[in-house]
Formats: sequence, structure tokens, C-alpha cells
Amino acid sequence: SKKNRLDRFIAVKTGINRRDVRLLIAQKRIMIDGQPATQINQVVDQFSHILCDGQLLQNNRPIYLMMNKPVGVVSATKDDQHKTVIDLLDSPQKDLHIAGRLDLNSSGLLLLTNHGAWSRRLTAPEHKVNKVYHVTLAKPLTAAYIDAFAEGMFFPYEGITTLPATLKILSEYVAEVTLREGRYHQIKRMFGRFRNPVLKLHRVSVGALTLDNRLNAGESRILTNEELQHLH
Ligand code: URA
Repeated sequence: SKKNRLDRFIAVKTGINRRDVRLLIAQKRIMIDGQPATQINQVVDQFSHILCDGQLLQNNRPIYLMMNKPVGVVSATKDDQHKTVIDLLDSPQKDLHIAGRLDLNSSGLLLLTNHGAWSRRLTAPEHKVNKVYHVTLAKPLTAAYIDAFAEGMFFPYEGITTLPATLKILSEYVAEVTLREGRYHQIKRMFGRFRNPVLKLHRVSVGALTLDNRLNAGESRILTNEELQHLH
């Protein structure tokens, strides 16, 4: 999460200048996470619990949610035309953002958090966290798809070749695809090479985290500590 110096934090929050912050520290009137502050340049972040003269200046808690995203709802915090995933939450949190979007007409596991460093780590291309999708197609699958996904495909628009992806044929029209990246409309474009339209796209897992099948479309819940620890 965002790191900040204590004096800067206090100045922005209260207007108290550095010299006076130094004085408050010396008099042990600033408490950080239950301990008196000791240094003017002490590092605090968005989740530090900060008191000044017993007055609460900050008390944010990290929030991590999984949602079963429905089709037709936008993976964004604001949208002029469509309902957003934030609109679906029971108690909408204004500072939540999405860790890894899904297209408007895709569904399944979506992660929401107020912890920027956490979502950056999860979605950074270099971390190559596996994302698993169940894809329903308009035309039957063949073994040729398996090789093409494993080899990677060149996308001239971006000038990149997709990383090796795993495709398993679950049934005639349903594939399980595992990606280690997330290019724009990647799965639809990969099946587009076979002129095979994607009818349904549902994300079932991200890293070690699997969508809770008790969540109906549009429902969400807080991640357990165990899920958080094993995610990646
Ligand atoms: N690939 C797509 O085409 N759409 C998604 O939502 C996710 C992966």
C-alpha cells in the first residue's frame, strides 16, 4: 500500500507543520498502531492506525472480496451506461478497485480490494498468475486448438506472441483455458483465429483461489485468511 512519511501524513491531514509534529512526537502524543511515534520520517501506509491526542486520524482496514460476476455488469467502479460490479455490493465501499477485470459479457471470479500493492502484485504480467476459464463455443473443438494455444499466437496489433496457454477439451463445445497473462479480449481473440465465436466465458480461478460455488451470480464474500495466504 501507499507509503508515506509521518510528518507529511500529519501535515496533509491536519495542517500541523513539521516542527510541531516533532514536538508532538517528543511528547508522545502521536500513536501509530498502538505505539508512540518515535521519528518524524517514520513510514506509515494507508492501513496504519494513527491517533493524535487521542483523536483518530486514520483507521482503514484492508478489504479483499471475491465476486461471482454476472454477465452484463461492467468491471469498473464507474460507468455511464451499465451497472458496475461496485453497484452489486451490499455495502458499497468507495475506495475499492478491481484486481483483474472481466469483459462485460464474461462471468465468474472477480477480485475487489482497497489494497493497491496487493492487486498490483496479483495482476503484474511478470508474476504470471494462472487464470482458469471455462469457455463455451459456437462450433465443436478439435485437438488442433490444444497445440495452437500451447504454441502461442502472434497478435500483430500489439506485436506480441501470447504465452503458452493450456487448453483442455471438457466436452464438444466447452474448453478449459489457463492463461498466465491477460491481454485485451485475449480468449475471444484466440478462438477468433479458428473463426469460433465464444458464447460464454466464465472465470473459475485465479492462482490457488477458486470461485466459491455457493455464490450466485452477483454475490460476493470476503476472502478467508487461508485463501489470502495461498493465493499466489
Ligand atoms: N479473455 C477474454 O476475452 N475476456 C475476458 O473477460 C477474459 C479473458
